[in-house]
Amino acid sequence: MTNVIDEIRHFFEHYRRVYGQSIFLEQPLKPDRELAEPRPQKPKAAPPPKPAVSRAKHIPQRSPELEEFYRQIKDCQKCPLGKTRKNFVFGYGNPKAEVMFIGEAPGREEDEQGLPFVGAAGKLLDKMLQAIGLSRDDVYIANVLKCRPPNNRDPLPDEVVKCEPYLKKQLELIQPKILVALGRVAGQSLLKTTDSLSRLRSTEHTYQDKPLIITYHPAALLRNPRWKAQSWEDLKKLKKLLQK
Ligand code: URA
Repeated sequence: MTNVIDEIRHFFEHYRRVYGQSIFLEQPLKPDRELAEPRPQKPKAAPPPKPAVSRAKHIPQRSPELEEFYRQIKDCQKCPLGKTRKNFVFGYGNPKAEVMFIGEAPGREEDEQGLPFVGAAGKLLDKMLQAIGLSRDDVYIANVLKCRPPNNRDPLPDEVVKCEPYLKKQLELIQPKILVALGRVAGQSLLKTTDSLSRLRSTEHTYQDKPLIITYHPAALLRNPRWKAQSWEDLKKLKKLLQK
């Protein structure tokens, strides 16, 4: 008795004699999704290039001279930060301020809003100002860099070189009596030094012929509230200078 295996073998031997190696099916097999040959993809059209300033906000300045200067530089592309920023953070405050606060560079919130010190550090800065009888509208607040470095990294020397003339022009237009650098990085960038913050705080400085106080960055005070006592000493020094 021929068993099933023999029957199948005979079937295929006969099949091969008649049809050769090919197997014919009455219905084409449905391609398995996994095994099917990938269909040739239509090349996707490249998205139109995003203009670097497409979403940039216009922040009105409070004097015609500052407004004019802002318009001149707000689309700056002198360094690669021009491509990654959302907004150019020119500065904010009283165009006749006696004191100008200078931070290092905009952070995420500042980049979103186009204004300096508007995040958590900015809220503490407001309280520090209040403590010496000032408000944001009495002073001018700017940064060494006008654009946010990716991931809030420190400014690069080349970025400082390219951006610093903007700060110098702001000083020329505002003519503050006293400058306050917020944090080690701002102080080091202005003075071109690598001195520690404790050294920078305990030494007298000038920048562009104006007295410069270097104190803690408010973000550092948020991280280390025990430094607030020393920061208060710096604020009292500022208040005294303003009263002279
Ligand atoms: N830190 C800065 O140095 N500048 C800002 O504007 C905000 C945070």
